[in-house]
Formats: sequence, C-alpha cells, structure tokens
Amino acid sequence: MMHMICRTPSAMAFLPRCATRRGLCAWPSTRQLCLRKNLLYGFMSFLSMPFKTLRGVSRSLGVSHLCSVANISSTLQIEIIPCLSDNYAYLLHDVDTGTVGVVDPSEAVPVIDALTRTNRNLTYILNTHHHYDHTGGNLELKEMYGAKVIGSGIDTDRIPGIDIVLNDGDKWMFAGHEVLVIETPGHTRGHISFYFPGSKAIFTGDTLFSLSCGKLFEGTPEEMLSSLGKIMSLPDDTCIYCGHEYTLSNSKFALSIEPRNEALQAYAAHVAHLRNKGLPTIPSTLNTEKSCNPFLRTSSNEIRKSLNIPATADDAEALGAIRRAKDNF
Ligand SMILES: [Zn+2]
Repeated sequence: MMHMICRTPSAMAFLPRCATRRGLCAWPSTRQLCLRKNLLYGFMSFLSMPFKTLRGVSRSLGVSHLCSVANISSTLQIEIIPCLSDNYAYLLHDVDTGTVGVVDPSEAVPVIDALTRTNRNLTYILNTHHHYDHTGGNLELKEMYGAKVIGSGIDTDRIPGIDIVLNDGDKWMFAGHEVLVIETPGHTRGHISFYFPGSKAIFTGDTLFSLSCGKLFEGTPEEMLSSLGKIMSLPDDTCIYCGHEYTLSNSKFALSIEPRNEALQAYAAHVAHLRNKGLPTIPSTLNTEKSCNPFLRTSSNEIRKSLNIPATADDAEALGAIRRAKDNF
C-alpha cells in the first residue's frame, strides 16, 4: 500500500535541483535514482516513517500514474480526480485513520467512482469558493456519504450544503493534519485556500494556477496581489494544487510576455511533454511558480517592457495590466 512506484514523470519532477533529502527529484534521469532510493527507504522504514503519496489518476484520458514523495511527518495521500473538462478535485486520504476528504468536487460521479474503487467513505468536502465548477458535487456527495461541507464564512449563502464555516487564520484539523485557512480573495470575495503545512501542500482553487492566477470576477488587482503574496510567503517547496489544468495554455501567454526567462522556457517544455502524454501538470511548486508565473513576477523588467507597464507602476498596477493582457490573449 505504501510502496508507490512512479512510472511516468509529473510536474513534481520540475524542480531546479534534486533535493534528495526530501525525496523530491528534478529531472527524469536523477528522478529514477531518487525513486529507487525512496522505494528502498519505504521498505525499510514505512511502519515508523510513512509516506506522503501523490496518486494521480487521469481516467478520462485513459492514463494513470503513481508517484511518491518521502515525507516523514505526514500520512496524507492526495489523489487527483479529473472532473468536467479541465477541473481537478482532490481526494485526501489519511492513511492512519482512513478519513477521506475531497477538495472542490465540481461533480459527484468521478469522486464516487474513486471512493468506490477503494471502498472508502467520505467525511469532508472542502470548498475553496462557491463557483459551480468547484461545488457542483456537494449536495449529492453529502446526501450519499453524510459528509460535512466546509467553506468560507463569507460565502455561507453561496456554498451548497455548508456545515462548517472557516475564516482567515483559522486552524482546522483533518484527521490529525493541521489545516491553515488562508483568505485569498480576488477571484471571488469569499475565496479561501487550504494549507497543509505537514504535507507541504496548499489547495489554491482559482486564486493561484500554475503559470497564472484566477480572473478578477469579484476583486481588484490589489486584492489578488495581496492573496498571492500570502501564498508566496510559504516555503518554496510547497506543492501547489490548483483548481484547473490550464498550465499549457498559460505557458503560451507567459512565454509571450517573458520569452527570455530560461526557467519558464524549460518549464513550458516540461508542461508540453506532460500534456502530450495526457498527464496532469499538477502539483506545481511555489519555487517553480516564483520563477515562471508572470503574476508572481510583476517586477520583471522583461514583462513590464512587453506590456508597456511604466517603471513607476506599482506591483498591483502591473498585475492588473498582466491580467488584462491575459484576458485578451
Ligand atoms: Zn472560480
């Protein structure tokens, strides 16, 4: 159960160096070595030092892959559930207690299928925001499993079936895993992100995507900048689990305004490779996003020059200009 083998590369592999201490590996050549080491490590010590695992399954594309990352402090498994055309829900499974949660179930059936496959129940539904493509499965899943729906106190009237209200700065426990609630408005007023520090994972919904940010439906560039700043203050090796598989198209926009960014060039090639194989590009890492995501790079001279953003413009004005350019790309 704990011995996961990565048969294919994933976005997790895109890191500028091989951090074998944590079991995170950079490029496919070194990654294989690291995984073998992890596997051996797992056989030797999994009873006392369990694994955090990422198990991504892309059933809609007929491709599956399993990856593992050694993490001595966590027994949280995260499974990607593709939903609708480009949404991701995430199944959270605490290995020790069997507790299961799901983040942003846009529809119920793929989640039910995943639970049925592993004969699991569902205890919690976590919503980052109220949009239908993040909450569409709430009521059916709640009725079927009796799961509790968790969401922002700002959106109690917009999140279907909400039971547990969380607000900025709240700490909540998921089966022994600390969850920090970070208010991240900009896309919607009540948007929150769920940060699991013990697993170095954050679920960012439609606030931070890989290589982009959410559209500003209910917020200002200042609010989005502040929300992104909160996420950027987390450790660089934090894994970013966002609400959509938009990375490939985002990479085209990012390259159009910062073509000389070598980290971006390499990441865009990696993303294209993954998508050619039908694999998810998620999770990304904060480190990758800081190097490549134009919305986290508002001070880049190249981006400012590309979009005629004056040197005197502050970061919020620059973010607004980048967002407008992306909206029209
Ligand atoms: Zn949304």
